[in-house]
Amino acid sequence: MTMSQALADRAAELTALLERYNHEYYVNDAPSVPDSEYDRVFRELAELEAAHPELRRADSPTQRIGGAPVPAFEPVVHAVPMLSLSNAFSDFDAADFATRHAELIAFDERVRKGLGQSLVEYACEPKFDGLAVSMSYIDGVLVQGATRGDGATGENVTENIRTIRSIPLKLTTPTPPALLEVRGEVLMLKKDFEALNADQLARGDKPFANPRNAAAGSLRQLDSKITARRRLSFFAYGVARVEGVDAPDTHEGEMAWLAELGIPRVGDGLAAVVEGAEGMAAYYEGVLARRASLPFDIDGVVYKVNSKAEQEALGFVSRAPRFAIAHKYPAEEALTVVEAIDVQV
Ligand code: NAD
Repeated sequence: MTMSQALADRAAELTALLERYNHEYYVNDAPSVPDSEYDRVFRELAELEAAHPELRRADSPTQRIGGAPVPAFEPVVHAVPMLSLSNAFSDFDAADFATRHAELIAFDERVRKGLGQSLVEYACEPKFDGLAVSMSYIDGVLVQGATRGDGATGENVTENIRTIRSIPLKLTTPTPPALLEVRGEVLMLKKDFEALNADQLARGDKPFANPRNAAAGSLRQLDSKITARRRLSFFAYGVARVEGVDAPDTHEGEMAWLAELGIPRVGDGLAAVVEGAEGMAAYYEGVLARRASLPFDIDGVVYKVNSKAEQEALGFVSRAPRFAIAHKYPAEEALTVVEAIDVQV
């Protein structure tokens, strides 16, 4: 076998694995491998394609988002695509900052170069381990909730979204925007997951593998009465569209505005605005120290350039924004005591 044939075979093998993992995770809500293994295979394929661009298929898992929407749900075409995030990892064996956080430093360098600035402000948030949804409010009334699906088309889960107690059916303002499309994560708190699994076992049903699967399986139900019986939570992390009012010009401002409208988001105790790679790394380490005691699972943190004008100037690559990155944590070990967090609505 030639070298190039061996590489092509390896790329095909990794592609088939990722396609199977994606289907299990996004369509069946039942992954067979931990996220760290998925990330490892994804990275190997991405590196192989970067070194040998002729191996990159247009429909490679490295170029696509999520999984196909399930036909049993009504499709929702997203007016603004729901994208993925590029990932950065840290080298926990390295003690010096430059080696430990090399990928983060490279992200900050790309952003500074793209903007022609020497220092950039970043809004930092936990990376919630749930599933992405988009919610549309017209004149302050919730009219639609959709999953991300393949990024272009999601699943209509409006009735199920309406059963989530913390999501306002009506915005708490006398002057609502004509249109507001909020993006965020539906998840299950650790305590609600434990109660649900205890219940499943008591009824002789199969327990869920983790809170993410429980949340995804509960939201993507054809019968919203089942969703209503599960305790789901929601945290906003972005605004996709606003019409009729001037939206704030920073990510931080947008999040504060959403809280004023009654939409849940994590408060200032957990979200932060920092400067540069050192600021992001300090946030990363600080949240990592609290990770096991948070009331919900997170698989990393997310940094977004804070200024909306700067975000726009940086734009997007094919499947992810250039102005944001997910900084992943190592696979999590046992859970410990849960702390109270500052949730603002
Ligand atoms: P991603 O998880 O890297 O990033 C995009 C998603 O992050 C968004 O859709 C949103 O849902 C979420 N998110 C959470 N907090 C956020 C915040 N504060 N701001 C913005 N977005 C936030 O990309 P992806 O394409 O959704 O998923 C890939 C990841 O899913 C993999 O890295 C892996 O961990 C996991 N996965 C696992 C398997 C498996 O078999 N175990 C299969 C597929 C995917």
